[in-house]
Amino acid sequence: MKTNAGITTVTKPFLPPLEEFNTYLEQIWQQRWVTNHGPFHEQLEKDLCDYLGVKYISLFANGTLALLTALQALRITGEVITTPFSFVATTHSLHWNGIVPVFCDIDPRTLTLDPNKIEAAITPRTTAILAVHVYGNPCYTDKIQQIADVYGLKVIYDAAHAFGVRMNGRSILEAGDLAVLSFHGTKVFNTFEGGAIVSRDEVTKKRIDYLKNFGFADEVTVVGPGINGKMNEFQAALGILQLKYIDRVIEQRKSLVSLYRSYLEDVPGLGLLTEIPGVQSNYSYFPVFINEEYFGRSRDDVYEALKKHEIYARRYFYPLISSFPTYRGLPSANKENLPVAHEAAQSVICLPLYPELTFKEIKRISDLLKELYKPNRLTVKTALEA
Ligand SMILES: *Cc1c(COP(=O)(O)O)cnc(C)c1O
Repeated sequence: MKTNAGITTVTKPFLPPLEEFNTYLEQIWQQRWVTNHGPFHEQLEKDLCDYLGVKYISLFANGTLALLTALQALRITGEVITTPFSFVATTHSLHWNGIVPVFCDIDPRTLTLDPNKIEAAITPRTTAILAVHVYGNPCYTDKIQQIADVYGLKVIYDAAHAFGVRMNGRSILEAGDLAVLSFHGTKVFNTFEGGAIVSRDEVTKKRIDYLKNFGFADEVTVVGPGINGKMNEFQAALGILQLKYIDRVIEQRKSLVSLYRSYLEDVPGLGLLTEIPGVQSNYSYFPVFINEEYFGRSRDDVYEALKKHEIYARRYFYPLISSFPTYRGLPSANKENLPVAHEAAQSVICLPLYPELTFKEIKRISDLLKELYKPNRLTVKTALEA
């Protein structure tokens, strides 16, 4: 069997003690209810509403099916304004719905959609904005909503990174018409695979629940062209258990992030994201941005050097979605249209971050980065300048 013992990867899924999961498995075996709105599914929906501070949630087999269904539920067509700096599923969900993605540049501080660039991307065919709370950084939700209200657009947030994130005490998942979560193994909260849509009202939740079950409203009524997006009982049972540990998981991530920060904040040419006031983070990622001129090495050199030491950092998000063959021919995919996104994609590297990572390992990774830094004329003052 393939294992990854001894290797430091960018993430490692948190799992609860196996005995606890076994108890749930025994219940599933007894009840023989393995999917289709079983008891664990119903309980997880309730538990998540409570934990996240939202009213309506629909569980999915994964985040991508949830994204596809969210666009269907709101009957989005035509063109949708979106960010190229995300995981590729964000844009694929538009493409699979026959929607043309219109890429818009991002803000250098949060790396989320730049609200000042959205209006210029609107055309008569625009129907919605699909924004991403990338790394869990909240989008400029107020400004985006203002624009959406003026132009009559829907707003969907890809909140795959934003589990549990709050802004001024309120869940970030309350912003927009719908918010979509992913519970993939690489995310802060995982159900092996899984996802969800947070909706504002009961009617919309109901429509989403029909759509994720082939469009069935009852045994003989199919209200629309639905899909099979249902979360099964195994995933839901795991989710219920994971919720017991999530606060500890996030606390642990928080202490690891502050350790990284204390080691790395003064390295020349190494940029860290600034913490945003009022935001209660989930510490889902720890991206650093390598400024080659000042750091003395390229991001890809750093990536390869870490790899030699069995540290598998990841270049999230490189290449930009707009660079992939499916999308690069679009007028909005032009490099001149997306300077900030290109800069971020060229310089970013996400360092390992997961609850089991040790303080010692963080120090080893940080020391390595400091060793890689090559002093140069931009970072070292000459005797005359000093
Ligand atoms: C993980 C992720 C998805 C896809 O979620 P899956 O559950 O893996 O299908 C979508 N968008 C973003 C931004 C993601 O990081």
